[in-house]
Amino acid sequence: METPLAPGLYIVATPIGNLGDISMRATAVLGAVAAIACEDTRVTGKLLQHLGIKRRMIRYDDHASEETRAHVLSLAAQEPVALVSDAGTPLISDPGYRLVRDAKAAGIPVVSIPGPSAAVVALTLAGLPSDRFLFAGFLPSKAKARAEVLAELGAVRATLVFYETAPRLAGALAAIAEVLPGREVAVARELTKRFEECRTGSPADLIAHYAAHPPKGEIVLVVGPPGEAQAQDHDIDALLFAALKTSKASQAAAEVARITGQDRKSLYARALELK
Ligand code: SAM
Repeated sequence: METPLAPGLYIVATPIGNLGDISMRATAVLGAVAAIACEDTRVTGKLLQHLGIKRRMIRYDDHASEETRAHVLSLAAQEPVALVSDAGTPLISDPGYRLVRDAKAAGIPVVSIPGPSAAVVALTLAGLPSDRFLFAGFLPSKAKARAEVLAELGAVRATLVFYETAPRLAGALAAIAEVLPGREVAVARELTKRFEECRTGSPADLIAHYAAHPPKGEIVLVVGPPGEAQAQDHDIDALLFAALKTSKASQAAAEVARITGQDRKSLYARALELK
C-alpha cells in the first residue's frame, strides 16, 4: 500500500496538450490529495476523467477572494491539497504565486511536482542559445508598452521567451523587427499537439510566412540574444530608458553621452524615438 500524502500544498504540473505527458507522480498525487484547487473545474474535470480520478475541486485563481485563498490554505494545513492550472506548470503565467507565498508564511509545506511548461518546451525546440534565458510572460498588447518592454529586455544578454496568442503574433513580430533588428526569432506553436511546429528565422521571414499561413493555436515566441554590436546598441537604449524615467530627452541624452562618450545629438534623436 502507498504511503498516504502528508498535509500540504502540492503544485502539480499537467500536460500542455498531449495527455500522455502527465507524469506518474502527478497522477499519483492527484489521486491521493483530499482536494484539487484549479482555475477551471471543467478543464481539470476532463483531465481527472482521463486519469480515472474523482476528487473534490475548488475553483482558485489569483483573483480569488482572500476568503477562498484562506479556505484552500486551511485545508492544506490539515490535508494534502493540489494546485493545478488549466495547462502546464502552475505559477508560470498562471495562478498560484500568492497561494504559495501565503502557504510558506503560514508554515504549510509546499511540494512541487514538476512537468511540462510551454516556455521550456519552446526553448528546447528553437535552436537558439539556451545557456541563459529570460522568461517574460506575455508582452503587453498596446504597441507603445510592447516596444518599451522589448527595448528594455533587448539589452539583456540572454535569449528571451514570451507567451503569445495567434491574433497578436503579427504585431509582436513587427515590433521585434523594429525594436530588435537583426535578432533570430522562433515561433513555437501548438507544442506537444497534432499540429506542433517550431519555425526559426528572421522576423521578416516569419512575418511573410504567417501572413501567407495565418497561425492558429497557442504560441511561444523565442528571441535570440543580441550579438556584440547589438548588445552595445541595446546597452545604450537601456541607459537612455533608465535616464528617461526621471529626465527630459535632452538631459537623458547628455547624461548617457557623458557615461558612454557617444555623440549627444544622435543620443538625443534615439531618446526621442524611445520616448
Ligand atoms: N502555465 C503554462 C505553462 O507552464 O506553459 C502557461 C499558461 S499561459 C496562461 C498560456 C500560454 O502558454 C499560451 O497563450 C501560450 O503562449 C503558452 N502555451 C501553453 N500551451 C502551449 C502549447 N501547447 N503550445 C504553445 N504555447 C503554449
